[in-house]
Amino acid sequence: MIAIDGPAASGKSSTARAVAAALGFRQADSGALYRAATAARLRVAGAPESWTEDSVLDAARVVSVRPAAGVFEALIDGEVADAELRGAPVTAQVSRVAAMPGVRAWVNERMRECAAMGPIVVDGRDMGTVVFPGATLKVWLVASTAERARRRSAELLGRMPSEEEHVLEAAQLEARDARDSRQSQPAADAVRIDTTLLTPEEQAARIVALARQRL
Ligand code: C5P
Repeated sequence: MIAIDGPAASGKSSTARAVAAALGFRQADSGALYRAATAARLRVAGAPESWTEDSVLDAARVVSVRPAAGVFEALIDGEVADAELRGAPVTAQVSRVAAMPGVRAWVNERMRECAAMGPIVVDGRDMGTVVFPGATLKVWLVASTAERARRRSAELLGRMPSEEEHVLEAAQLEARDARDSRQSQPAADAVRIDTTLLTPEEQAARIVALARQRL
């Protein structure tokens, strides 16, 4: 069990997937489950300001997790909905949903079910602190806000952002970090890796090397 946590757009999921591939593990992204619960609730009528925990949990009954090659997929109504999960409407509301204790318990239970199915790399905010405190290796990934904004824009836009887009993305990332700060703290025994100047391959290679020492 390897737990990779860190703030928004620090490269957790892509790194976790690469580490899982190198070790022959599966990856499970807890953020995708918070996003899936949010997307499922958005499909039902009602202003986000008035969402209750019960209404989110009720909507999330259509969310499931399926083991696939190298990864656990989060499904809505039995289908992959990655574009919807990563889209702006979900990103704008997901912190509200993630602040609901019942939703956190629901995600944590799904993550533990995944972990019971074999060797796994999990990623999120509180994998190493709350959900899997006994993980073999805990990593806390960080990167500068400017670099995180650049990566997120490149992923979403498929090109270099304009100065205006970059500033907006950086502000949105910092706002989300602030909203998520309660559940987003490094474990005392986590290895901190700053990825600002690392390539995705270098990030993954460092974690794979640490994991091999400990496994
Ligand atoms: O990692 P990602 O940006 O996809 O996570 C989406 C949101 O899910 C975060 O902004 C946060 O609100 C929530 N989250 C969380 N705890 C986790 C993973 C994600 O609260 N372990």
